[in-house]
Amino acid sequence: MKAVAVLPGKPGSVHLRDIPAPTLDAQPHPHVARVPEGRGVLVQCLQVGVDATDREINEALYGNAPPGGDYLVIGHECFGRVLAVGTKVTEVKPGDTVSCTVRRPGKSIQDLIGRNDVTSEETYYERGINLCHGYMTEQFVDDAEYVVKVPKGLRHLGVLAEPASVCAKAIEQAYLAQTRLQVWNPRVAFVLGAGQIGLLATMMLRLRGLEVYTLATKPAPHLKAEIVDAYGATYVSTKQTSMADLAKRVGKPDLIFEATGNAEACFRSMEVLAINGALVWTSITGGSHNVAVDGAKINLEWVLGNKLLVGSVNGNRRHFELGIQALAHGEMTYPGVTQRILTHPVQGLDNYQQMMTLLEEKGALKVYVNIAE
Ligand code: BGC
Ligand code: ZN
Repeated sequence: MKAVAVLPGKPGSVHLRDIPAPTLDAQPHPHVARVPEGRGVLVQCLQVGVDATDREINEALYGNAPPGGDYLVIGHECFGRVLAVGTKVTEVKPGDTVSCTVRRPGKSIQDLIGRNDVTSEETYYERGINLCHGYMTEQFVDDAEYVVKVPKGLRHLGVLAEPASVCAKAIEQAYLAQTRLQVWNPRVAFVLGAGQIGLLATMMLRLRGLEVYTLATKPAPHLKAEIVDAYGATYVSTKQTSMADLAKRVGKPDLIFEATGNAEACFRSMEVLAINGALVWTSITGGSHNVAVDGAKINLEWVLGNKLLVGSVNGNRRHFELGIQALAHGEMTYPGVTQRILTHPVQGLDNYQQMMTLLEEKGALKVYVNIAE
């Protein structure tokens, strides 16, 4: 069957290749995580989304092939349909629509209790990214443990399950960490960045009742600003209003959700956070970028203001469930808005070059491949 793969370490190596079709009881090879006897789920891929991580993998800045192999099947944002299940699978059945988590466990205590999203090990195993093949193919098999049901009524948003899990986890991490204050009632949130993560975070924070300002560079009008608006948040172009000026106008944010991919924005945001506030970083900034900030001022304000910074990555199956619930809640509250994120469909795996070219385009909010109906 067809699969889109790269040769890690070789820039621009994305290609279509033929790989053996999986069977329910065959162990993925080379494997890092064994599927326990009878717990396999065979999934047909319907749609797979791509993001900046896939671009960096193709640029050879990121990602590794499974042990002993030289290629990596990419794709970590999957939506599919169950074709068959092993004898010990009760959670899903053939015909169910599903997504699948990205990380697979290592050996740390967190890995062993299902929290591979906060593994204590340096090495992490991620399908389509690091040391495990991904979903940019026709079918795959995985352990039922990692297969997450997507309700049929949410089929049109299923390909956003993985990005939604990343947002749901990051927001939950901030709220969990803030229990240190015993009472925390955030009122104002700044979301930095209006890509898929920024927009989904905007929606989720609005669903929690916050006054949300979503900041990105480009002045409105454009689609991203319209989506922010439709979620009942306010879009702010940092070309027109700086983060500092916005904070002066609407008050310092109690919560900042950073998703810009820009190191400068990560650190600048430290200058505007409110007392007792929480700043969540979700960007994965490749390469190197020096930023000059007034470290003494920030340190003083952060210590005197008991402020918190938390980094958050990935999502385990519970975060997928939370993300899917938020997508459903969002669909009820802001009908038809979230699907506007899905701007650039590509038809079929054969068009993988078009997929990569679209990923480079600034206006392409979400690129995804329609693999099957
Ligand atoms: C993925 C996460 C992953 C992270 C680090 C992101 O693009 O969405 O699931 O943990 O990259 O590799
Ligand atoms: Zn991703």
